[in-house]
Amino acid sequence: MITKIKGTVDILPGEVERWQNLEEVSRRVAKLYDFKEIRTPIFEQSELFHRGVGDTTDIVKKETYDFVDRGDREVTLRPEGTASVVRCVIENKLYTSAALPLKYFYIGPMFRYERPQKGRQRQFHQFGAEALGSFSPSMDAEVIGLAVTYLKALQISNVVVKLNSLGDEESKKLYRKDLIDYLTPVKEQLCSDCQHRYLENPLRVLDCKVDMENTILKDAPKPLDRLNSESKKHFEDVRRLLDGMNVTYVVDPSLVRGLDYYTHTVFELLADNTNLGANATIGGGGRYNHLVKNLGGPDFPAVGFAFGLERLILATQDQVTEDEGLHAFVIALGDQAKLQAPRIARTLRHGGLVVDLDHLDRPLKGQFKQAERQKAMFLLILGEDEIEMNIINVKNARTGEQEAVAIQALYPTLIEKIKHEMHQCSGSCESCSGDCE
Ligand code: AMP
Repeated sequence: MITKIKGTVDILPGEVERWQNLEEVSRRVAKLYDFKEIRTPIFEQSELFHRGVGDTTDIVKKETYDFVDRGDREVTLRPEGTASVVRCVIENKLYTSAALPLKYFYIGPMFRYERPQKGRQRQFHQFGAEALGSFSPSMDAEVIGLAVTYLKALQISNVVVKLNSLGDEESKKLYRKDLIDYLTPVKEQLCSDCQHRYLENPLRVLDCKVDMENTILKDAPKPLDRLNSESKKHFEDVRRLLDGMNVTYVVDPSLVRGLDYYTHTVFELLADNTNLGANATIGGGGRYNHLVKNLGGPDFPAVGFAFGLERLILATQDQVTEDEGLHAFVIALGDQAKLQAPRIARTLRHGGLVVDLDHLDRPLKGQFKQAERQKAMFLLILGEDEIEMNIINVKNARTGEQEAVAIQALYPTLIEKIKHEMHQCSGSCESCSGDCE
């Protein structure tokens, strides 16, 4: 048997509806903030991620799916969305637009060669948003606001927003030096990975999963202590704006995030959820003022975030979703009826109704059973007698009530019956003009 690749999953009907709902909410909330959808290729030149995400990050060092294509090009399946959006902005000169900031969102698969576990896959999906072209702290606050609105729309509660600032390039440089000075004498007490990377990329040491509980890291100097006055002001402004928007957050001085391109604001969203575990990270982001320039574009600041959709699916797993079922199932008895049933189903479908019929030559009882399995609201029963009289029996699956309807009047009658069924009221509201009962 050929099986799927480790770390990937099949999303089957039944489960797929949850994904559609998640995608629909992502699009709807992005629209509320006037972010437009952008679609970039799933694979890019490897150099984009090496330069963009950073050569010394775990993602690029250990997790990318790299291959050489038949034309000898070095290609990488995207491990995240930001670098591709930035490449696209530069290549299409979108930064020349008068309508700045550019506000984009994306939904799609990402690929990282990680150890698969609950909420961690090798092919996973992200909903991300990027705002490019504004230095203003209000853009940071707006992007964080969008992330929080999104979780509200998904009815995910017990969310914590963690916030920190790495400062501008100057502050980051000073902080880097501080950190190297602090780590050098104690490097033997770090994990083997960190013993190598503390010099080339000391910030990643703070993000180390192995050394998470190591007191050396807990006591390490923090980026906030090294912010220059401009960076301090930016961070204070972001906080003031978030307070004004009633967005609650906690400042986490140890938060650095796993990608190299961040400057100033960084944030993470955590959910305390039984399906995910306590304090699971569901999304994160930050400001990246130099990525556009580093990838060959102009000086163009930006801020964005990404959520992992698999984790959001887990976080919303206990929410009740309705399996909508069919509006009607056509039950046909006899050759003539079987000949007519597809035409009837087709006419109703053209009118926007969800309709199905038997394709396994089931006997009458079997067809009723199948209609029940497919959760049909109405059964449309057609036998030789009905054909003769040019009628069809319309049976309400819930109440058992049945009415013979002229074939020509089937569509409008069924529409009325469905409306009535979907709106079972006491007969005194506006939408049914009092004729519900
Ligand atoms: P990052 O791009 O690393 O900041 O990740 C943003 C979000 O994507 C994380 O908070 C996770 O929710 C999700 N994510 C990252 N890696 C994976 C993965 N391997 N499997 C599932 N979700 C992931």
